[in-house]
Amino acid sequence: MIKHIPIHQQFTYKSIPRNKQLGFEIANHCNAPDRVLVVDWAGECFICSCEAWLPISMGKIEQFERLSDVWTNPIAQEIQQDIQDKKYTHCAVDRCRIIDMDRVEHTHDHYSISINIDESCNLRCPSCRSGLIMLDSGPVFEEKLARVKHLVNLLEEFDEPCQIIMSGNGDPLASAIMRPLLHDFQPKPNQQFRLFTNGLLLIKQLEKSQIVPNINQYFISIDAGSADVYEKVRLGGRWSVLIENFKYLKSIIEQTKASVLLTFVLQSDNWHDMENFADLCAEFGFDGVINRLENWGTWSDFDNHDVMDPGHPDHLLALQALRKVYNREPRLQFNSSLELILKS
Ligand code: SF4
Ligand code: SF4
Repeated sequence: MIKHIPIHQQFTYKSIPRNKQLGFEIANHCNAPDRVLVVDWAGECFICSCEAWLPISMGKIEQFERLSDVWTNPIAQEIQQDIQDKKYTHCAVDRCRIIDMDRVEHTHDHYSISINIDESCNLRCPSCRSGLIMLDSGPVFEEKLARVKHLVNLLEEFDEPCQIIMSGNGDPLASAIMRPLLHDFQPKPNQQFRLFTNGLLLIKQLEKSQIVPNINQYFISIDAGSADVYEKVRLGGRWSVLIENFKYLKSIIEQTKASVLLTFVLQSDNWHDMENFADLCAEFGFDGVINRLENWGTWSDFDNHDVMDPGHPDHLLALQALRKVYNREPRLQFNSSLELILKS
């Protein structure tokens, strides 16, 4: 069977070693190719939670008449068989850590569907992009909009329980392309949403949306705990608008019982704002997580922003601040690379 690696994934496929080169003997099990779908910005469908780990596409989403065909087409079957035989031929096994542990992230009856079709966002955070990305007209806009409408039809016909995740690469509440999912889709009780957003348009976009009772997780990236820092790291965002939206969200989750996780990516512009972030989480009763900065290639001088780099001039002060908030706030989470630093 000819496997399709989209042009934009070919470098990744070649540059990250696969098990056909690494040759690990692996006893662990992964069920991602039976249960996971990631639809990327070009509409390509991947059956692993990270398309860089397994960059083989099942085809474009508009080519499928039923969602279940994504996991039952011949290419998917070949990959599933390869994994069942513990070969992991095309998998980046040392990245996804299948060499150390099973990857059964999704229970046998639950599907995970990530929709990363549009990168549009109302903000232009320096850590994420160098300018505003907002698609609202033109042929690319129409193509993506048609893709989302098709996806709505597929989801309406899909009876299996699933978690719909949007979006990994933009803000679904700011995107005109994602509107059919927010305003036309009537989800079934077994279709839940995990919403990634900057939180500024919750009131505007969710007040009349039918999906609100089905959103069980809100992940809101704020990277700050005070107005000054927020308006620097979330370029284009206003703190007072965020707080109004948080008040609205608090009233929503009292009814729906959804969880809210505020996220904070530690960097040179915000390390001194971690305590304020912890206070904000406590004030609203939201969970919070502090993550280490990752290099997405947005900054040419990445090292100047990564305060966890021992060579950064603020490293020791930032580490001290991190330890303080770590010891003070047991409800706050820290990602594994920060945990490693904290425990060293
Ligand atoms: S083994 Fe790793 S790369 Fe392969 S499908 Fe599972 S998570 Fe993805
Ligand atoms: S709010 Fe999120 S998606 Fe939008 S620019 Fe900032 S980091 Fe990127």
